[in-house]
Amino acid sequence: MNASKQFWVMATQNSKKAKELVALTGGRVEVKTLRDLGLDDLEIIEDGHTFAENAQKKSETVWAHLKRTGADLMPHWIIADDSGLCVDALGGAPGIRSARYALDAGTGEGDDDNNTLLLNNLRSFPTAQERRAHFACALCAMNAEGQIHGFYGEVHGFIGHALSGAGGFGYDPLFYPDAFPGQTTAEISEENKHAISHRGKAFRALADALLAS
Ligand code: IMP
Repeated sequence: MNASKQFWVMATQNSKKAKELVALTGGRVEVKTLRDLGLDDLEIIEDGHTFAENAQKKSETVWAHLKRTGADLMPHWIIADDSGLCVDALGGAPGIRSARYALDAGTGEGDDDNNTLLLNNLRSFPTAQERRAHFACALCAMNAEGQIHGFYGEVHGFIGHALSGAGGFGYDPLFYPDAFPGQTTAEISEENKHAISHRGKAFRALADALLAS
């Protein structure tokens, strides 16, 4: 552990998210994931009604576990995120159920089935204006004393009629962000996606706030 750097834990198994956070802080923090801590099996129940509630539940679960197990090295901050796609014409669905959209509907599982279901559910909404949508990302940061800070980011655009592009993940091949007309978030570079994305915005707000003091 580098004593001059803050130590943060990101409540995810996804090392790409941790790397993104390190990059955004200019390398001023060391970020470990649950996998790095050997906590792959920690059960986190995401039964909140909003992205922010779910992010907070993830932070609290990791915080309580580290307190209980007497972790000698409590991080400065435990960071958790929750994100998803909200489609106006569908009353904000799939929302917090984005990862399990097709599973909930009984039409399959995973990105391909989620995208197919979304296209089917938007069949009676043909115009781009009727297909407005945004990605949202809520972040929760909790310190050793259990104090909480929340951060949030959104990116707006519309849902296309067919998959386009091989980059990104999830609903990216269907999402046309306003900032890059004619391209989905699966077609723009990773760098450009970070610059405009819900997660990029929320991560930058968090890094600015937590490293300001
Ligand atoms: P998570 O909270 O980052 O795990 O995201 C939950 C789900 O939301 C993912 O499984 C995707 O279906 C969707 N999602 C979140 N962020 C993105 C994104 O940047 N692009 C595409 N889909 C996303």
